[in-house]
Amino acid sequence: MQTLVLVGGGHAHLHSLEQFKKEPLQAARVVLISPSIHQYYSGMFSGFAEGVYSQEDIRIDLNRFCEQAGAEFILDSVVAIDAQAKELTGADGAIYGYDRVSFDIGSLTAVPGQIKEHVSSIKPNFLFPEQLLRVRDSDAPVIVGGGASGVELAFSILAWRSRQNRPVKPLLFSSSALLSGQGNEISRKIEAIADRKGLPFHTDSSIEEIDGHSVTTNKGESFPQSDILWLTGPKSSGLFRRSGMPTDSHGFLLVNDALQNMKHPDVFGAGDCVTIDRYPALAKNGVYAVRQGPILWQNLKNSLASDELQSFVPQKRFVAILSTGDGEAFLSYGNRSLHGALPWKLKKYIDRKFMSRYKNP
Ligand SMILES: Cc1cc2nc3c(=O)[nH]c(=O)nc-3n(C[C@H](O)[C@H](O)[C@H](O)COP(=O)(O)OP(=O)(O)OC[C@H]3O[C@@H](n4cnc5c(N)ncnc54)[C@H](O)[C@@H]3O)c2cc1C
Repeated sequence: MQTLVLVGGGHAHLHSLEQFKKEPLQAARVVLISPSIHQYYSGMFSGFAEGVYSQEDIRIDLNRFCEQAGAEFILDSVVAIDAQAKELTGADGAIYGYDRVSFDIGSLTAVPGQIKEHVSSIKPNFLFPEQLLRVRDSDAPVIVGGGASGVELAFSILAWRSRQNRPVKPLLFSSSALLSGQGNEISRKIEAIADRKGLPFHTDSSIEEIDGHSVTTNKGESFPQSDILWLTGPKSSGLFRRSGMPTDSHGFLLVNDALQNMKHPDVFGAGDCVTIDRYPALAKNGVYAVRQGPILWQNLKNSLASDELQSFVPQKRFVAILSTGDGEAFLSYGNRSLHGALPWKLKKYIDRKFMSRYKNP
């Protein structure tokens, strides 16, 4: 019997476990290793922040899901990989052998070293509820990061606080325009929505200094803070570089378009933690992690059976829906966008449907 180890309960591995339940492998046992029994779904983070969803709504019980799928669950964090010996090391030194291994461990947040002690990061994702609740309740919350996650959580915290009659609004800082990665037109629209909803935001403003009570931007302006949620770009966990695995220049595991490491063909990966050599600029988000799921599972099965592997081809554009609070959301597709109740209803439907696959399989 061969052993397939899935490291991390990310989107692509949830799909693998779902398929394994439907069609068990005759020649392999499947093991999932994760540092938390719960996998939190980031698509619902904004709804949780606003009080629409409970903690139970936004998480999947990995232990139970593995039990139902016939896979083994191990509560541990992989800290080292020995690809020659085909062994993984857990946080307390436990050794896990594998015939094939796949990584879907997500990413961390890039926080500048000198300000680390002052800020809250929500990654890995199981840290989200605790950190979010602290910042949401804080006297003067600050959110740093003008990408989709920072903007979405700022709107959600604003909506929750105004419903609680909390007079101080969260402050949002971005080193560029809001949602600058999606082009000028989208930035202009989301900033107009922020103005209309009364969300205080500062663009082209990088936080350069933090002390116990304030943040100071590159423009020399200081603002009060009592808790800071840091939501800037993804950073690699360091696991692959530390283990001498082939990585890109940022430490993400390098894989080919079959989601397989080229130097160690027994090692696969998907989601935020990998860079596909053919698509080095591919955004790290949940959409691509989900889309890679079916190819990853097919290729893990094919590799165990010594069959040919399939290629992952990313779509060029996708629909993004970002909650703006109070039952509204902002839908964008390329340059086109729509804001209001309809996108929020659609987002709620998609997110609930995604979760029901894993919560009530
Ligand atoms: C507030 C917020 C909102 C977002 N909203 C969206 C959205 O609406 N749509 C979208 O497409 N993207 C969204 N994203 C981005 C999205 O969260 C990530 O891109 C996505 O979660 C990556 O999925 P993944 O499968 O790579 O890993 P993850 O979902 O991060 O899962 C990784 C898992 O691996 C585990 N793990 C980590 N390290 C180890 C280790 N060493 N050993 C074992 N297990 C480990 C973690 O505990 C976690 O369970 C959002 C992000 C944030 C912060």
